Amino acid sequence: MKIFNTLSMKKEEFVPLEPGKVRMYVCGPTVYNYIHIGNARPMIVFDTVRRYLEHKGYEVNYVSNFTDVDDKIIKAANEEGVSSDVISKRYIAECKKDMEGMNVLPATTHPLATEEIDGMIDMIGTLIRKDYAYKKNGTVYFRTRSFPGYGKLSGKNLDDLRSGFRKIKVSGEEDKEDPLDFVLWKPKKEGEPAWESPFSEGRPGWHIECSVMSRKYLGEQIDIHAGGEDLIFPHHENEIAQSECCSGKQFARYWMHNAFLNIDNKKMSKSLGNFFTVREIASRYDLQVLRLFMLSAHYRSPLNFSAELMDAAASSLDRIRRAASRLSDLSGKARPSELLPEETEKAEELKGFISRFDEKMDDDANTADAISVVFDLVRFVNVELGEESSGALAGLALETLTMLCGILGIEALKKEEVLDADIEALIEERQEARKSRNFARADEIRDQLKEMGIELMDTKEGVKWTRK
Ligand code: AMP
Ligand code: ZN
Repeated sequence: MKIFNTLSMKKEEFVPLEPGKVRMYVCGPTVYNYIHIGNARPMIVFDTVRRYLEHKGYEVNYVSNFTDVDDKIIKAANEEGVSSDVISKRYIAECKKDMEGMNVLPATTHPLATEEIDGMIDMIGTLIRKDYAYKKNGTVYFRTRSFPGYGKLSGKNLDDLRSGFRKIKVSGEEDKEDPLDFVLWKPKKEGEPAWESPFSEGRPGWHIECSVMSRKYLGEQIDIHAGGEDLIFPHHENEIAQSECCSGKQFARYWMHNAFLNIDNKKMSKSLGNFFTVREIASRYDLQVLRLFMLSAHYRSPLNFSAELMDAAASSLDRIRRAASRLSDLSGKARPSELLPEETEKAEELKGFISRFDEKMDDDANTADAISVVFDLVRFVNVELGEESSGALAGLALETLTMLCGILGIEALKKEEVLDADIEALIEERQEARKSRNFARADEIRDQLKEMGIELMDTKEGVKWTRK
């Protein structure tokens, strides 16, 4: 697979640090409100990259944080007269509901910044010891000029940056040795959450959070680090500086950034008031429509949100679902269950759609073109399969369609349409897995069935199942 690496500004062949395994970190949202559909873009895009890597056989350790200590959270808490904790916990729970609705898989780990303060104090301590950071009146700053690689991700020239910064003096700036130095730790202000530390009673800066959570859950070096393009500078540039000064090793090998989501061709922003929360969209559309809409553009292209485009995505989803539902009917009918001799060519053609889909996804996760392949497949099955087809061919076509859609996180078959036969096949596979002591696979199947709303009961007569 080729990935466009922001670090080199080129598409590069993806080679993980450890064969067969991928360590991936995606910067998560700051939780002070419902997430908006702009925040949903990196969630959907990088969940799809993850699903595709898993489809290719990689084991993906996927970490995505929640930033649960931040000025905006404190402000929201003060406005409501509650603690920051109440706000962040509430919106983490709401965010998880939205993620589920958008079919974004839970990360392997979703660390919370507030639960990782010890690691942050530790990393800041190391940076001070190594002379990459300094204390001033309870604040700890990173000494930017001490890291020769500063600017390598964003391609920024330090002298230009420095003169730009000099023009805008901010209070507290006089404590800095250099205007480019950034905060690792800041002392407590009245009414703010704070932790004891050797530097002062205070809280961490935003950038150190991700360096620490990434190191703890994925190690000093990771394969892919991702987020929206607004994070390239300063957030990701600063993460690189902190992590690489601390470990002496390259931090992330591939940096992936999604472009922004606009509304009616204008930048979506809270201040302009032209944003929608995922929750608002959910009251008007199936969130699978939002997902299909997001993936209909390449992740590095700006994407415009409009009612027309959402309606177009809704009818696209409908076309996929109608095709899947028809295949489901065809494959369930009592007709020849074996592939007919004249169908071998069509069966081969079906495989061709998988390799074409993979080809598109191998090219820097080109979901827009991969979706076109799905529609070619829909057209193919609508024309080439009918009442005369064998159950086997219809089953194969359905499997192909649901698999490709599954990589995109799109459910081709609505949950209630999942065939009893498919469920029984999975249960049988689970029994086989247990017999061969492959408990990991058996658990995976149980979880998959659970996600499909199927509950298993082990009885004397064997495994029974019910729909929830
Ligand atoms: P935040 O909560 O602002 O830290 O953002 C969480 C994630 O959403 C980051 O990866 C941002 O880059 C991304 N993001 C925020 N707004 C947009 C937008 N309008 N379009 C695409 N990504 C966005
Ligand atoms: Zn981050």
